[in-house]
Amino acid sequence: MRLVFLGPPGAGKGTQADLISEKTGLPHISPGDMFRKAVKEGSDLGRKVKEFMDKGQLVPDNVTISVIRDRITQPDCGDGFILDGFPRNLRQAEELDDMMAEAGLDLHGVVNFEVPLDILIGRSVGRRVCRGCGATYHVEHNPPRSEGVCDACGGPLTHRDDDREETVKRRLTVYTEQTEPLIEFYLRKGILVNVSGDQPVVAVTRDLEAALDGIKRKIAR
Ligand code: ADP
Ligand code: ADP
Ligand code: ZN
Repeated sequence: MRLVFLGPPGAGKGTQADLISEKTGLPHISPGDMFRKAVKEGSDLGRKVKEFMDKGQLVPDNVTISVIRDRITQPDCGDGFILDGFPRNLRQAEELDDMMAEAGLDLHGVVNFEVPLDILIGRSVGRRVCRGCGATYHVEHNPPRSEGVCDACGGPLTHRDDDREETVKRRLTVYTEQTEPLIEFYLRKGILVNVSGDQPVVAVTRDLEAALDGIKRKIAR
C-alpha cells in the first residue's frame, strides 16, 4: 500500500506511522527525520536544510523532492510506503503524482489527521525524541516509564530545537498557508480519508486501522 499521512505539525503522524510500519512492514518515510539525521551527521544535505528547519520554514522543494524520489525508489518500497510529512505543498504533491505516473503506480490513500489547531502547540512543545532510536514521547500524553530515558533503547530523550513555542507557531502558519490546501487536492482525487487525531493514541490507531482496511478493500475491487 502506498500511503500519505497528512496533517499539521504535532497531529500524531509520526507516532501512528511508527506503529503501522511495525505492524505492516511498510517503510516509514519522514523527510523531517531524514533532514534531522543529515544535520546531526553534518552532511552536505544537513548544511543545506538546517537554516530552513531552524526558522520553521519548508526546505526548498528541489532538495526535498530529490530526497524523496531517491528514497521511494529503493527496493524496500516495493510493497509500498508510508510518506509522513511529504507532500507539504502543491508543487510537491504534483511531483509525487509525476513520480507515481512514471513508475506506473497508484497512490492508494491519503490519511488526513484532524486535530484542532489550539491543542497542537502543546503537542509539539511537550514532544521528546530519543537521540538513540528516534522514538517519540510526550511529557504528559505519552511519557516514558522513566523520565528522560527511552523505553525502547535506553537512549536520552531530547527536545527538538524547532519545537520551541515561537517556531511551532511559525510552522503552524506554514501548514495553514501551504499544506492545508492539499486536503482539497486529494479530496478531488477521491483518495482522502479523515481520521480524528484528537483522541488518545490507541483510539487514533483503531480508527486509522479501520480507514486502512477501507483503502485495502478499495484496492482489491
Ligand atoms: P512535524 O512532524 O512536527 O510536522 P517534521 O519532522 O515533519 O515536523 O518537519 C520538520 C521540518 O523539516 C519542517 O519544519 C521543515 O523545515 C522540514 N520538512 C519536513 N518535511 C518537509 C517537506 N515535505 N518539505 C519541506 N520541508 C520539510
Ligand atoms: P507529527 O509527526 O504529526 O508532528 P508526532 O507523532 O511527533 O506528530 O506527535 C506530536 C507529539 O504529540 C508527540 O509528543 C507525541 O508523543 C504526542 N502525541 C501523538 N499522538 C498523540 C495523541 N493521540 N494524543 C496525545 N498526544 C499525542
Ligand atoms: Zn530510543
